[in-house]
Amino acid sequence: MFRRILIANRGEIALRIIRACRELGIEAVCVYSKADKDAPYLRLADRAICIGAGPSKDSYLNIPRIIAAAEVCDADAIHPGYGFLSERADFAAICRECKIEFIGPSPEAMAQLGDKVAAKRAAKAAKVPIFPGSEGAIEEEDEAVEVAREIGFPVIIKAAAGGGGRGMRVCHNEATLRASIKKAQQEAKAAFGDGAVFIEKFLEHARHVEVQVLGDKHGHSVHLFERDCSMQRRHQKLIEEAPAPGVDRKKIAAVCESAAKLIRTTGYAGAATVEFLMDDEQNFYMLEVNTRVQVEHPVTEMITGQDIVKHSILIAAGEKLGLRQKDIAVTGHAMECRINAEDPARNFMPSPGRIDTWEVPGGPGIRMDTHVVPGYMVPPTYDSMVGKLIAHADDREQCVARMVRALREFRVGPIKTVIPLHLRLLEHSAFREGAVDIHFLERALKQDLLGPVA
Ligand code: ADP
Repeated sequence: MFRRILIANRGEIALRIIRACRELGIEAVCVYSKADKDAPYLRLADRAICIGAGPSKDSYLNIPRIIAAAEVCDADAIHPGYGFLSERADFAAICRECKIEFIGPSPEAMAQLGDKVAAKRAAKAAKVPIFPGSEGAIEEEDEAVEVAREIGFPVIIKAAAGGGGRGMRVCHNEATLRASIKKAQQEAKAAFGDGAVFIEKFLEHARHVEVQVLGDKHGHSVHLFERDCSMQRRHQKLIEEAPAPGVDRKKIAAVCESAAKLIRTTGYAGAATVEFLMDDEQNFYMLEVNTRVQVEHPVTEMITGQDIVKHSILIAAGEKLGLRQKDIAVTGHAMECRINAEDPARNFMPSPGRIDTWEVPGGPGIRMDTHVVPGYMVPPTYDSMVGKLIAHADDREQCVARMVRALREFRVGPIKTVIPLHLRLLEHSAFREGAVDIHFLERALKQDLLGPVA
């Protein structure tokens, strides 16, 4: 087992990993940037090492500095969390060269599943349902038009190396498709360092349903069922829940099994999420594979009782997954509201600054994953998420009631957060009915259907 893990991340996920290390009896070392130097969670680590200035390229994305920190503290492993370097196969390869275990998949497995075009190929082989679309990357306009005619408009152009909801273009006709291919390639090259793009069918009505999977280094894999993450703004998730409401359990069981098979057949070790869109007829189409622990992993932890972060560490250390599929059961319903420091009344403008009032809800079935304490300064430099509020109850109705109760207890100031928006969303009939699709939130905001959100 590892003696010491370096955590190459910040904020709530760094704290989440510290907690997992503590419970496993492993020392946790945090790296931090100057923008995070006063962050209180650093005191919970066994050691904290400053790796540079605030901008991510000088710190959390700076591979030589992170490797140097791991060498200085003599860490056996690095946990990348999510975002930053977590999906960089080159980083995983450098860790290997330096004889530091990367807590995640091998660079080869990451390259195979992290690239959307490659992942589709692997998915097809494992009989995971995929989108109708181009088989590989699209080079020329004519190729794109040919595929689009075959699958029908609208189509979406995506970057093979894309992420974070960026690098996608929807095309409703041939003219826009022709005009967009070159631009999309250039944008992809500039944003992700890889100009490869592909096209697939664009679904006007769909829900985002994803499957949590775990694979070990001994060829064994399981799934931990699904999450529904349809409540999104700008392709970014805001509320996630499990199980997915109203989904045919037989259908989803088959999808979950195919996801577990996909990671087994690609020799993937670690935690991963296989993302799908589900259409109105409950057909599933794979979007991509996220080769890391996700923001919304607590939802699955609450309904399965499995600690996904601990599993990721134990798998990296070479332990066998002591879990058989038939032993994993779902208990009740769970939901997560991302608490972002943004002002929903001002087009979600970031609202950084000092948090004077921070009164967090508690009580039965409530979990709060956050690095924030009263007096914490939210730096303007990073992601605006300041915490995740998670509720668990016997069924969906009670879970929603519990989440509403908790959101009403929450007091934050003077910065703005999305808490008032969450309350409106949870009260909305479409959400109550479990009928929210991926475009619901943007539509509701545009048409002013939610009432006051601040
Ligand atoms: P990223 O890697 O940037 O997160 P994804 O491929 O996972 O990109 O897609 C993110 C979101 O974009 C999806 O949850 C969905 O809302 C939207 N999206 C992606 N592909 C499609 C599609 N083919 N049809 C409709 N919406 C899509």
